[in-house]
Amino acid sequence: MEAVLRRAQGVCESCGEDAPFTKNSDGAPYLEVHHKLPLAEKCPDSVNNAIALCPNCHRKAHYGTSA
Ligand SMILES: [Zn+2]
Ligand SMILES: [Zn+2]
Repeated sequence: MEAVLRRAQGVCESCGEDAPFTKNSDGAPYLEVHHKLPLAEKCPDSVNNAIALCPNCHRKAHYGTSA
């Protein structure tokens, strides 16, 4: 989901923090793409259904509700 990462511009779209590091491969900020609704027939893999998260927020999105 390159479009999501471009939109985020290196900033987590949940907590607003900068990406924790940049990737060695291409120097881009490291963020993970998370789908707000699980991928299913009714939830297309679209930019509107996806957000760029830092690793902490991504774990929280899947496994917890608050820090
Ligand atoms: Zn975050
Ligand atoms: Zn996710």
